[in-house]
Amino acid sequence: MLGAIEAGGTKFVVAVSNPDLSIVERASFPTTNPEETFKHVFDFFDQYNLDAIGVGSFGPIDVNVNSSTYGYVTSTPKPGWQNTDFVGKLKSRYQVPVGWTTDVNAAALGELNKGAAVGKESCLYLTVGTGVGGGAVIDGKPLEGFGHPEMGHLLVRRHEADNFAGNCPYHRDCLEGLAAGPAIEKRYGKKAQDLSDQKEVWEMEAYYLAQALMSYTLILSPEKIILGGGVMKQTQLFPLIREKFAELLNEYVQTPNLEEYIVPPALEDNAGVTGCLILADRAR
Ligand code: ADP
Ligand code: ZN
Repeated sequence: MLGAIEAGGTKFVVAVSNPDLSIVERASFPTTNPEETFKHVFDFFDQYNLDAIGVGSFGPIDVNVNSSTYGYVTSTPKPGWQNTDFVGKLKSRYQVPVGWTTDVNAAALGELNKGAAVGKESCLYLTVGTGVGGGAVIDGKPLEGFGHPEMGHLLVRRHEADNFAGNCPYHRDCLEGLAAGPAIEKRYGKKAQDLSDQKEVWEMEAYYLAQALMSYTLILSPEKIILGGGVMKQTQLFPLIREKFAELLNEYVQTPNLEEYIVPPALEDNAGVTGCLILADRAR
C-alpha cells in the first residue's frame, strides 16, 4: 500500500491507498508538537503494510538531497518543529522509500494528475490561508532548485488605500504580509470570513494577488494557476483577480483564456493527499 502525509501547519491529513492510488482510509488531526503529532501518524500507519510514503510538508523544509539535513523541517516559526528530521523518523519506523516535497508542490502535483490541470504538463498552486505559499510542477516534476520556491514572499506594489503596515516577520509588507488571512484580519479588525460583503476588502485582496500572479506568469509561464486555501473560499475573488490581472498584464503576454487559466482546485481538500500518494508511487 501507499501512504500519504499532508503535513500542514494547522492540521495533518494522512491516508493510505491501493497501488492504483484509490484511497482506502484517511484521518486528520491538528498539528501540535512533533512528538504528539508523530504518535498520531504512527498509530495510523502501523495498521498497514506500506511500500512507500509520500510527504508534502509545511516549511521551510530541506529538499536538497545532497544536504546533511535533507528531509528536515528547518527554520519554521512553528514551536517545537525547528530542525525536525521528518523523513528520518518515517524511514526508521517503516524502512520504506519516502517521497518528500512541500505541501504546495504536492497539491500542484495532485491537481496536475487528477484535478484542475489534468492533461497539462505544468501548473502552479497557490494557497492563500494562514500564510501564502506557492508550488509548481513543471514537465510533470515538482519545482525545486537549491531549495524550494517561497512564492508567498514576493514584493508587491502597495494599494493606495492601504494603511496597514504588513505583518510578515521577515519582510513586513510582502505579499504574505499584506494578503494572507491574518493580514486581512489585522487590517480590518475582523476575520476574513466575516468580511464577505465588504467590497473594498476583496478589491484590495485581488489587487495584491493579481500582481503576484502576473509575476508567476512572467517567470514560469505555467499552463494553469490554481488558487486554494481558506481566503479563496471567497469565490468573488476569482473574477476580481482575473480582471486586475488582465489590466496589469495589458496584453503583453497572450495567456490562456483567464476563466480557464486562473481557477479553484478541482480536488478541493484532497489535492495535497493525492499529490503525496503520487510522490509515494514515484518513490517506491
Ligand atoms: P491553513 O493555511 O492554516 O492551512 P486555511 O487555508 O483554512 O488554513 O487558512 C486559514 C485562514 O483563512 C485564516 O486566516 C482564515 O481567516 C481564512 N479563512 C478561512 N475560511 C475563510 C473563508 N470562508 N473566507 C475568508 N477567509 C477564510
Ligand atoms: Zn515575507
